[in-house]
Amino acid sequence: MKIVVVVGGVGGARFLLGVKKFLGLPAVGPAPAGTPHEVTAVVNTGDDIWLHGLRVCPDLDTCMYTLGGGIDSERGWGRTGETWVVKEELAAYGADPDWFGLGDKDIATHLVRTRMMRAGYDLSDITAALCARWQPGVRLLPMTDDRVETHVVIDEPDSGERKAVHFQEWWVRHRAAPKAHSIVPLGADEATPGPGVVEAIADADVVLLAPSNPVVSVGTVLAVPGVRTALRKTEAPVVGVSPIIGGKPVRGMADACLSAIGLETSAEAVGRHYGSRACSDNGVLDGWLVAAGDTADVPGVAVRAVPLLMSDVEATATMVRAALELGGVDLG
Ligand code: GDP
Ligand code: CA
Repeated sequence: MKIVVVVGGVGGARFLLGVKKFLGLPAVGPAPAGTPHEVTAVVNTGDDIWLHGLRVCPDLDTCMYTLGGGIDSERGWGRTGETWVVKEELAAYGADPDWFGLGDKDIATHLVRTRMMRAGYDLSDITAALCARWQPGVRLLPMTDDRVETHVVIDEPDSGERKAVHFQEWWVRHRAAPKAHSIVPLGADEATPGPGVVEAIADADVVLLAPSNPVVSVGTVLAVPGVRTALRKTEAPVVGVSPIIGGKPVRGMADACLSAIGLETSAEAVGRHYGSRACSDNGVLDGWLVAAGDTADVPGVAVRAVPLLMSDVEATATMVRAALELGGVDLG
């Protein structure tokens, strides 16, 4: 079976563990030789940022470390057994920004990536090279090799001045506290899908939208016009999984993102925002999986309610099964 999953960081990575488990693959680590299954993740790159001269790709790295067994699973991001010597030394110099957690082990990843970028490699080649070490057992494809950066318009807490800041500055530095007036994936309009993305979607048996942040993870991937077109054209069913349970994000601050684009925090609002492939001009969904206890009326989209807490890999694999059933995938 060929499964394509649109993902962000922590929520997307956990969902991918369940996709692998559902297919009978080891959740962490490489797929056994000769497996007939292929999992491809189309990963958000709108969170990517230059820090201290290094290119940092948080969602790609979260997926790579999680699936490759290197993640700090308590924190959900960064390396297990991490140390922070470089961060402390940078702080001693007063080197800005000081609000982003770059651990020593993690920095090695960014050094390798940045060096390859400077040598002219594309992000998709670099990601493949990094994955040669981590063996995530999933093809991790950046949504695009072009530079896309999500920016957020806020009133600066200190100065009160209205300005656009990088998404990470709003999210990590300010903990999404200042109200977001708008959220813009800069560069997405002109970006083209990364190598292999359109082909993977066209060839898939099913495409899943992970329960990732609907605005700044899945929404950013969908903002690349060629990706949206590929999702609308594929013969495979497209099924989304709600990150909103009982009117709240399960973890994190997705509600702050939804209100910035004028949406209520509910499974129904997110489902309608993704929209129907059949009944709308730019929708992408055939099916929308919501949490048990939630309801959603999304015209033109099949909706089903099942438990959606990714409490462990087995529970997540059960969610994946429900998503495939909702999409009408033949499970033999
Ligand atoms: P990020 O890029 O690291 O912020 O992570 P993602 O965008 O991939 O995922 C964040 C989203 O995952 C949040 O909006 C959460 O609501 C959602 N999420 C986290 N855990 C769960 C879970 O157990 N079940 C569901 N349905 N959603 C979850
Ligand atoms: Ca992210």
